[in-house]
Amino acid sequence: MPDAHNKTVQLSHGGGGKEMDQLIKKIFFQAFENPTLCAEEDAAKLCLNGSVAFTTDSFTVSPLFFDGGDIGKLAVAGTVNDLAMMAAKPQYLSCSFIIEEGFAIKDLQTIVSSMAKELAISNAQIVCGDTKVVPKGCADGVFINTTGVGHILQSDISVKNLQAGDAIIVSRDVGRHGSTILMTREGLTLDSNLTSDCTTLWPIVQALIDAKLPIHAMRDATRGGLSAVLNEWAKASNVGIEIEESLIPVADEVKGLCELFGFEPYDLANEGTFIVAIPQQAAAAALSIMQQFEHSQNAAVIGCVNEHRQGKVVLTTPWGSQRYLDLPQGELLPRIC
Ligand code: MG
Repeated sequence: MPDAHNKTVQLSHGGGGKEMDQLIKKIFFQAFENPTLCAEEDAAKLCLNGSVAFTTDSFTVSPLFFDGGDIGKLAVAGTVNDLAMMAAKPQYLSCSFIIEEGFAIKDLQTIVSSMAKELAISNAQIVCGDTKVVPKGCADGVFINTTGVGHILQSDISVKNLQAGDAIIVSRDVGRHGSTILMTREGLTLDSNLTSDCTTLWPIVQALIDAKLPIHAMRDATRGGLSAVLNEWAKASNVGIEIEESLIPVADEVKGLCELFGFEPYDLANEGTFIVAIPQQAAAAALSIMQQFEHSQNAAVIGCVNEHRQGKVVLTTPWGSQRYLDLPQGELLPRIC
């Protein structure tokens, strides 16, 4: 195994021979160590009973490292969060790396240790994986795919399950991940502490499940942001959603960047922010649980579900005028996750 200092990944590290074996053992096994992975069978042997959620995602974020996270943290949090949104306890993940020849071993180690750290938050394990190395120029540094499974602890949580009278809660201020990537990419050095919201949402979701709250739907507001989630819900459940602009938390830095670039904070991606639809009478209990988590101290009810204007999201501005909040159009920011 090359030592980490000024060593890079070579094509031979994906060749299936000695170099690949060393890379896998020294970097991946060391960080992700568990009996299933280290058994080195052709496939992981799992014991799964009951209803299971299953999801996959590929990560191509550029830059690989950003304020508040990196591609490794994102690759674990992203998949774990999709399981959590189905009230499924994240258990087993696969991870596949596509690495460009010449990628720094020390950067790979940083990414892998971020993954291990993020996995520990939900106690999920990486139980199988794959490594490919492609010639220089055939990829951009590193791409990661993760797939995850987990037991569903609370059924009936669905995009089709919103009902008139539900409150809509957002877990924190919106648009941070998109803004952080934009700022890093544009080389902007605003006088700010803007960081991505990238985080594992399982602990907060687990607290909501433990409280046995009658949650109707949950979704993390990733690509397409808050606007996409609300529009997807309104259509899938055939309901109207009304939200109050003045109630939606948005950080000043995000507002500033949006003004500069002509974006809507509601369209920007988040990687540790989720939306909950829950009957009005249970909303206060959900909020008080969510606000106990540091990243969700400013969780807020931002609107409600009704039977009018089915399939539409109506936003009321602070001046009382109303407009439709549409699905974002076009590609605002490619390679955001
Ligand atoms: Mg999702």
